[in-house]
Amino acid sequence: MTEGLTMPQNGYFCPSAIGQIVTQRVEEMIFSSRLIEDAVQEFAKLPGIGKKTALRMVLHLLKTNKDEVDRFTTAIGKMRHEIRFCRDCHNISDHDLCDVCANPGRNRTQICVVENIRDVIAIESTQQYSGLYHVLGGILSPLDGVGPEQLHIGTLVTRVKTTEVTELIMALSPTIEGDTTVYYVAKQFSGTPVNITTIARGIAFGGELEYADEMTLARSIARRLPIENYMTGVGR
Ligand SMILES: [Zn+2]
Repeated sequence: MTEGLTMPQNGYFCPSAIGQIVTQRVEEMIFSSRLIEDAVQEFAKLPGIGKKTALRMVLHLLKTNKDEVDRFTTAIGKMRHEIRFCRDCHNISDHDLCDVCANPGRNRTQICVVENIRDVIAIESTQQYSGLYHVLGGILSPLDGVGPEQLHIGTLVTRVKTTEVTELIMALSPTIEGDTTVYYVAKQFSGTPVNITTIARGIAFGGELEYADEMTLARSIARRLPIENYMTGVGR
């Protein structure tokens, strides 16, 4: 980049001082309607939504049929007021038990332990897993003040003791905190017959070998699969 020039968020090249002015103007939008301004402020509180995008959404709603806008706001309000957490697995649910726990066709001997509900959605979307889940609600992170008592580990222990579960599949992020959580949870079941497994770690599909970090590459080689499993994409 040319010296003395900055790239402000709006994407125009300009000398740094002018860049600041342009950015400020975008931040300080002047509205002729308080109602529009309030709506823009609310949209701009959402993650990843800046004021410009918020304004675009509000102007879109302004052009939309009033009944449709009512349906939109009702859906958001109902979702916030009526959503619950499954009493068994802590997944989001419309009822006491989530759809996964309430489904008699699911394999009740397996519980996949995940950090949050986004992970449940991701795994369910693969349509490759037929067991149950347990949402921990986070992972152990002493630096952020997250200890075992902040997570749903106690209910997992009770669940395993009181049900027919034989395998816990630990599907947590491959980070120091994720590994710490896996070890902590596994320790709670030492001496019990429950089998604890972890999801495989390896080179991402479409990824280039030379860009994989050493740890991932080393684990991928250590946990190599027979060619038949590789071709079908299914592990043992
Ligand atoms: Zn559930």
